[in-house]
Amino acid sequence: MTKKMNYCARCTYPFIAVNLSIDDEGICAACRTAESFNSLTPAFWANRKKLFDKKVEEFLSKKKDSEYDCVIPVSGGKDSYFQTHIMTKEYGLKPLLVTYHGNNYLPEGDYNRDRMRHVFNADHIVMGPSVEVLKKLNRICFKKMGDMNWHAHCGIFTLPIQVAVRFNVPMMIWGEIAWDISGMFEPNDFVEFSARVRHEHSLRGFEWFDMIDDPTDSLAKKDLLWAIYPSDAEILKIGVKGLYIGNFFKWDPYRHTKLMEETYGWKSSETPFERTYRRASNLDDRYENGAHDLLKFIKFGYGRASDHASKDIRTGDLTREQGIEMVRRYDHVVSTDLYFWLDYVGMTELEFWETADRFRDPRVWWIEDGQWVKDNIWGTPSSYGPVHLPEAAQEKYKRLK
Ligand SMILES: [Zn+2]
Repeated sequence: MTKKMNYCARCTYPFIAVNLSIDDEGICAACRTAESFNSLTPAFWANRKKLFDKKVEEFLSKKKDSEYDCVIPVSGGKDSYFQTHIMTKEYGLKPLLVTYHGNNYLPEGDYNRDRMRHVFNADHIVMGPSVEVLKKLNRICFKKMGDMNWHAHCGIFTLPIQVAVRFNVPMMIWGEIAWDISGMFEPNDFVEFSARVRHEHSLRGFEWFDMIDDPTDSLAKKDLLWAIYPSDAEILKIGVKGLYIGNFFKWDPYRHTKLMEETYGWKSSETPFERTYRRASNLDDRYENGAHDLLKFIKFGYGRASDHASKDIRTGDLTREQGIEMVRRYDHVVSTDLYFWLDYVGMTELEFWETADRFRDPRVWWIEDGQWVKDNIWGTPSSYGPVHLPEAAQEKYKRLK
């Protein structure tokens, strides 16, 4: 087993960790997909808009007059504003906004979320599970899969379709597609929201019923009603479908952010994040860029700064050298929200590291003098903190020459 990390020649993604394919020039599939999107002309997007016009018309013909025109899942982020801007201002529709509230909002995120009702003439359902249940789920999922934020991924991708079914609304409008991260989809795939991507990708293959067997944190079905995906029969009866607006409108995060700030008073974070240089992402969840993402670094050896830098290199907003500098500065940082989280769920820091170390990928990490060591994109390995694994579990982390 090699412990050598190989990186894309264009962005900052490591191949082991991200599971991307690589071509003969050493360029990753996500960079190639971005290339094909970047080469699309204004005429192409004008055509795509016409296709979207038709889709919207089809959906509106399926619903009754008295019902909402569409459901828009929103966190209150810049992308939520962009989706809602298109549907209300360009199409003149009456959406029902739906938010999953995981009790992790930053103050600017609270402000942006609540402002949507003021600026878009839209009704808004904000649903948050019991905080006691959330604390249990944070603990259960951290131990089960090394991710305290499973509840958020589950809520975000379940609540909107529950609401669409309950209010008889066939059209759900999602934002960006994950093609830029995974290189999984091409422009002509017209990928739609699906139960499969939700289950396998967003929920890591777990469902609500996997959460009710914990010996210390007991949960029942009635605690997790918001996490239950509607049945096929319910979905088919209404014909609910989720469209990604990113299939039809050019996705340009920096231009969208500026537009939303100027038009609607949307606010980015006033204080910088500790684990990335961007200020406009993930204001709905203090851990997304923080402790949740630190766990990604612990598992796979790369973090949110690698994600952001790779995206920004692909759009020409950063050079690769600048991207690597961001990775060097941010990817490994143990951010202070970790201590906020430990206090929230009542866990010691030692307990955190002992659990987190169980999830380290042995293809990425090795042990040297009681420290975790890994390769870096800048060429020389470095150590990233003490090992908290029992001796017996350290065998697979031996350095291979
Ligand atoms: Zn790449």
